[in-house]
Amino acid sequence: MTLQARVVIVGGGVMGTSIAYHLARAGVRDVVLVERDELAAGSTSKAAGGVRAQFSDELNIQLGARSLEAFGRFGRELGQDIGLHRVGYLFLLSTPEEVASFEAGVRLQNSLGVPSRMLTPQEARRLSPLITTDGLLAAAYSPDDGHCTPETVVHGYAAAARAHGARILRHTELTGIELHGDTVTAVSTTLGRIATDTVICAAGAWSRAVGAMVGVDLPVQPLRRQIAVTEPVPGLPPTLPMTIDFTTSLYFHAEGPGLLLGMSDPDEKPGFATDTHDRWIPRLYEAMQRRAPALLDLRRTGTWAGLYENTPDHNALIGEAPSVSRFLYATGFSGHGFLQGPAVGEIVRDLYLGRVPFLDVRPLSAGRFAADAPRPEANLV
Ligand SMILES: Cc1cc2nc3c(=O)[nH]c(=O)nc-3n(C[C@H](O)[C@H](O)[C@H](O)COP(=O)(O)OP(=O)(O)OC[C@H]3O[C@@H](n4cnc5c(N)ncnc54)[C@H](O)[C@@H]3O)c2cc1C
Repeated sequence: MTLQARVVIVGGGVMGTSIAYHLARAGVRDVVLVERDELAAGSTSKAAGGVRAQFSDELNIQLGARSLEAFGRFGRELGQDIGLHRVGYLFLLSTPEEVASFEAGVRLQNSLGVPSRMLTPQEARRLSPLITTDGLLAAAYSPDDGHCTPETVVHGYAAAARAHGARILRHTELTGIELHGDTVTAVSTTLGRIATDTVICAAGAWSRAVGAMVGVDLPVQPLRRQIAVTEPVPGLPPTLPMTIDFTTSLYFHAEGPGLLLGMSDPDEKPGFATDTHDRWIPRLYEAMQRRAPALLDLRRTGTWAGLYENTPDHNALIGEAPSVSRFLYATGFSGHGFLQGPAVGEIVRDLYLGRVPFLDVRPLSAGRFAADAPRPEANLV
């Protein structure tokens, strides 16, 4: 069986489904998305759901702010409740270097319309009462940020994409891309061949293998990250912000009546493993002891692991390969891709259609490493 498609999107996470929705809604016919598992089965369903515009890189600030607007309209526009809590992001800062870097970030964010501000340790504790202010110098806070439920965003985009005529093929793996010279002519999948002249790679942590099918280097490296959820916490304020101890990377936000907790693990080695283990727990407890001892008493009721999709400068790869006609990519979001899904969907639609996107993302092209023009993001969790 050979299917026909105007565009084949690889990957059914937040990126693939947002791109499918934006293309189909713009009137592009025969959009086909292939996902080898269930929708959202990759990193998206494992994310903490944090959405924010507090970044150090002006492109990330604008991608975050544009996406926050879209998350705010999501229920109205797409008819899907995404559990959005606009409770803010609170970064806790314990060194003069962190304070200086966040002050510069707040200035840049404010110049781009983001209402972030610096707080005293006491103001921070009023917002997030489970923390201790010992050793805290300051905090950065933006009330527009928050968190929502990643799978619901994917299902909202997928349903709306289908309603606009896109086809979503689950349990369908992309196994190859056919080229005639430097032009895409078809893809092979476990369901059969699909004739097409455009492929968009939104394959997350697995993107390097997709790029290799057309000789395009997408330098994306998988790295396991773990999350724990806790029993209900009595008296949790409904406005508890996503709280991040920037020095240790411990973060938490309300998840139903309990908390969702996460932290980076410097001992983790790159790889595709997503089983959970307890080796990160001693470090997690140390960080709790230091910044939020109240968390130590909470029983953990669940854990899971997912993959960050890291690039060498921990910033996204968005663009179109110059060596192949037409191979586009939106990947390598390095742990902050869920929150960029709406804006990146819009941008990739415009790149496909040859329109000028709302933001010039050329500095995020995969070619920046060969050109020795990395684009590091400092505000990473
Ligand atoms: C523990 C954890 C916490 C996180 N917290 C946050 C957060 O708070 N905020 C935030 O913004 N981001 C967060 N992230 C990062 C976020 O999850 C990712 O950046 C984002 O989900 C990437 O979306 P994606 O659509 O690019 O990739 P994915 O969701 O991984 O989707 C890619 C899909 O491609 C499919 N695929 C791969 N290869 C093929 C193939 N050959 N054929 C067909 N299908 C294929 C996969 O099955 C997968 O479903 C977190 C990540 C983790 C692991």
